[in-house]
Amino acid sequence: MRTSIATVCLSGGLAQKMYAAAEAGFDAIEIFEPDLIAAPQSPEEIRALADRLGLTLDLYQPFRDAEGVDESVFADVLRRAEAKFQLMQRLGIDLMLVCSNVGTATVDDDEVSAGQLRRLGDLAATYDIRLAYEALAWGRFVDDYRRSWRIVELADHPNVGICLDSFHILSRGHDPKQIEEIPAEKIFFLQLADAPALSMDVLSWSRHHRLFPGEGSFALPTFLAHVFRAGYEGPLSLEVFNDTFRQTDPTRTARQAQRSLRWLADRTAELLGEEASRTGGPLPRLPEVAAPEAFDFVEIKASDTSGVEVLLEQLGFDFGGRHRSKQVRLWTWGAARVVCNDVPSASPAPHIAAVGFDVADSDPAAERAARLMAPPVHRRTYAGEQALRAFTSPDGTEVFLSHAEDWAGEFDGGVSSTDGHAVRIDHVNLVQPWHSFDEAVLFYTSVLSLTPQPSQEVAGPAGLVRSQVMSSPAGGVRLPLNLLPSGQLPTDQQGHAQHIALACHDIIGVVTAARERGLRPLEVPGNYYDDLVARFGLAEDLVDTLRDLDLLYDRDADGEYLHCYTETVGEVFFELVERRDRYDGYGAGNAPVRLASQAT
Ligand code: MG
Ligand code: MG
Repeated sequence: MRTSIATVCLSGGLAQKMYAAAEAGFDAIEIFEPDLIAAPQSPEEIRALADRLGLTLDLYQPFRDAEGVDESVFADVLRRAEAKFQLMQRLGIDLMLVCSNVGTATVDDDEVSAGQLRRLGDLAATYDIRLAYEALAWGRFVDDYRRSWRIVELADHPNVGICLDSFHILSRGHDPKQIEEIPAEKIFFLQLADAPALSMDVLSWSRHHRLFPGEGSFALPTFLAHVFRAGYEGPLSLEVFNDTFRQTDPTRTARQAQRSLRWLADRTAELLGEEASRTGGPLPRLPEVAAPEAFDFVEIKASDTSGVEVLLEQLGFDFGGRHRSKQVRLWTWGAARVVCNDVPSASPAPHIAAVGFDVADSDPAAERAARLMAPPVHRRTYAGEQALRAFTSPDGTEVFLSHAEDWAGEFDGGVSSTDGHAVRIDHVNLVQPWHSFDEAVLFYTSVLSLTPQPSQEVAGPAGLVRSQVMSSPAGGVRLPLNLLPSGQLPTDQQGHAQHIALACHDIIGVVTAARERGLRPLEVPGNYYDDLVARFGLAEDLVDTLRDLDLLYDRDADGEYLHCYTETVGEVFFELVERRDRYDGYGAGNAPVRLASQAT
């Protein structure tokens, strides 16, 4: 499998983009013309740099407004094209992307477009250059790959083929199955991009919101399977226009891009099954790892975690002992384990530093993470201690692949609560910086095999909070990722806190007992309870109980959800939840009330 990336995906100057692509293991790049024009290096120097970096230059793009034009305009097209062919010879590139006309087209006629592409092909042939014709989703007349293929077929020229771009096809909802009918030798190039489901004009959607495969909602393994069934053997090239990637570290973005292709190849191979061996070149597989179905532990780190420990005790956790060699203490409640780690030398406020996921076999899971270029975490271990496998997620939270039985013996308490409320960690909510949100979705999708749920927006006093839940198939692991508004309000009003939600069976009993131990849940305004009566028609005595205990309530067709929050300590707070029947949500309708209460 040859991997390629368009230079437009990355920030920086052209040379910097090339270093980033090479470092991430790409075989090739597409040169995006504006990147070359703005580069201080000559075409010969760019060619030599590519050589030194072990990159091939697979495509020059884009050549615009080439066909469907009047003859007088076409004379100028030929002149422009010839200048580009001469430039491409200096770069050593033999393939040019020709996109369908959006500006100068006046003739809506396949024969005319085909005839002009044929004449362009004749000229390109004299330079040993081939042309890959791409239907833009917003082309003036040609906006569908089936039509661009018909035109290429009519042109009937050995130097004229088609370029397939997943965005242009899937954004328009065009069925990709007919790709299989295109002869492999006429598919000159393949560009891949994902995108979020949005209702907006396709041009703006494409220019600003493309994503790497696995970060959006397009069915890319299915798309790619059609392309392989057609017999395509060329590179898989990413072409992702994205406002965030254009302004963040290109080395990191390139690695994210490579991770995306490795995940996509694996998913496509899985989909193709036996057929995969008949596609061009073997598709590299990743070690198969089922998604974890339980949290193993959460670690809270700070210069002083005692404020968190007070909360844990009030909630109902038992002290599970000190670690034999580290400044670490374990707290347990049923199947929920929280580790408090004091780091006196640093002075961070309490925050979630690590999340352990209970995986059946950590070896293949760690091998998979390494193949997906997840940065490994090395922590010092002493003789007889378990060396846990860990990786750094995009937001910096460490992800452990672990199993409590392997490490709990390193704590001297050994207490394991057999609480009747059967407490476990329901979800861990992690706050994501704006520049790594999409990368986090891909990270948890590919490394942990979690599934992204549709994203939601929740209104808070400091702006809209985008929330996307990553979850395991049976719901044992739920990881809501929150993207905060990048607003100007003081940080204590932005609600940038993470939280750990604990599920129990009898939240009214649990909260009543916790309040007796001194817990003061986050206060909920009286207006909320008046509204509850209006929304759900709940019995007065139930509403009174909820009001007395500051419990929030939600109900949908699947069941009911009762929950409450603790106050925030540093950057972390806790939530208690009771899921009734098959309720599968998070009380999103109550989040604005929570955010407002936390901001006061
Ligand atoms: Mg394209
Ligand atoms: Mg929650």
